[in-house]
Amino acid sequence: MADALPFPVGLGVAEAQARIVEIAATRMLAAEVLPIERALGRTLARDVAAPRAVPGFANSAMDGYALRGEELPATGERPFRLLGQVLAGGGDAEVVPGGCVRVTTGAPLPRGADTVVMKENTRTDGDQVWVNAGTAPGAHVRPADEDYAAGDLALRAGARLVPAALGVLASFGLTEVAVRRRPRAVLVTTGDELTPLGEPLGFGRIYDSNRYSLGSLLERHGVELVRHERVRDDPALLRAALERAAGDAEIVLSSGGVSVGEADFMPRLLAEIGEVYFWKVRMRPGMPFLFARVGAALMAALPGNPVSGIATFLALVRPALDAMSGAMPSRTLRARLATAVHKRHARTEFQRARLDCDDEGRLIASPVEQQGSGMLRGVAEADALIVLAEAQREFGAGELVEVLPLPGWP
Ligand code: AMP
Ligand code: MG
Repeated sequence: MADALPFPVGLGVAEAQARIVEIAATRMLAAEVLPIERALGRTLARDVAAPRAVPGFANSAMDGYALRGEELPATGERPFRLLGQVLAGGGDAEVVPGGCVRVTTGAPLPRGADTVVMKENTRTDGDQVWVNAGTAPGAHVRPADEDYAAGDLALRAGARLVPAALGVLASFGLTEVAVRRRPRAVLVTTGDELTPLGEPLGFGRIYDSNRYSLGSLLERHGVELVRHERVRDDPALLRAALERAAGDAEIVLSSGGVSVGEADFMPRLLAEIGEVYFWKVRMRPGMPFLFARVGAALMAALPGNPVSGIATFLALVRPALDAMSGAMPSRTLRARLATAVHKRHARTEFQRARLDCDDEGRLIASPVEQQGSGMLRGVAEADALIVLAEAQREFGAGELVEVLPLPGWP
């Protein structure tokens, strides 16, 4: 490769993330309307305002008796005449002075009543209900509008449709929702040593584990994985595979061949067939990461080391997927280090750590023993990657560090 590279090399992690988000945000995916039962995990394309009040009517929050709060006894107990009952889903009833109506949780509050006394604070005697003192007037009534008033902004564009959000949409009676399309991705794993599962390993060969770790990371982050291809370290084959991938996806992920080894063809090849936005990020593991465009598709070229792949995915690919999906950026989580950590280099380090809660309720990160970038064991035994900032070498026990949870935690 020529000495002066026609693209920036060696960005800081924050700078790389900002550049990625800036580029990916210009490629936000189109909106589509889906039935809500198919919208789990999608990103809302537009704000959703409540089309009606929830609940739509005042109702009882308890099983008990609806009555007039002003008639409650100040001390002791007092009888009320039982006028009837309204169960959840039931209809119209009225409470007149001195009377009460039996209600269940969710039953519309009878006209004239403003209070519900819990069944536990009463006793019945024929058509008399004896009510103990102690209930406050107005108690145990859920006013109409309590949850959402008509017109309330309920869910914001960019919000992830988690189970509770789907519940909210359903409580409004909405059957469909406008969400962003899922990014389509092609995963290309590269390397002469890679062997598909099911075949015996020849000497010097390894199984293509990234196909599964990166493939499932993509799927866990809402991507439609269109296809996986395994390609040898051959520039012509790689070129054909990447061009094919770019034609079928909005984002192409590759692993391997992006460093400076004899068989690392990615940087030069991508500069030839596309546009390289930058190469190399001051992080460890994962430094050789490259971000580019091939045709209309974004291209994230990840280093082949299994742990580097996972670290660059969480730190750099995920923000790209979020930006393409119009998703609000995920919240930053922090934890305290269980032990002092010495960082041996100047780059930002992503260490594998377990997360636990201490007796004061604080989140504690304990780095695992196996920190080698080729060692899957370390990441498989971890809950998260912790981020050790670039500018710092010594981290004290108890110090706060940023945490990138691995999918599946907690
Ligand atoms: P590379 O980035 O191509 O220099 O590869 C770095 C290391 O990661 C080498 O030890 C490769 O054998 C290994 N590696 C590359 N691709 C994969 C893969 N798909 N699955 C597991 N290990 C890989
Ligand atoms: Mg390789």
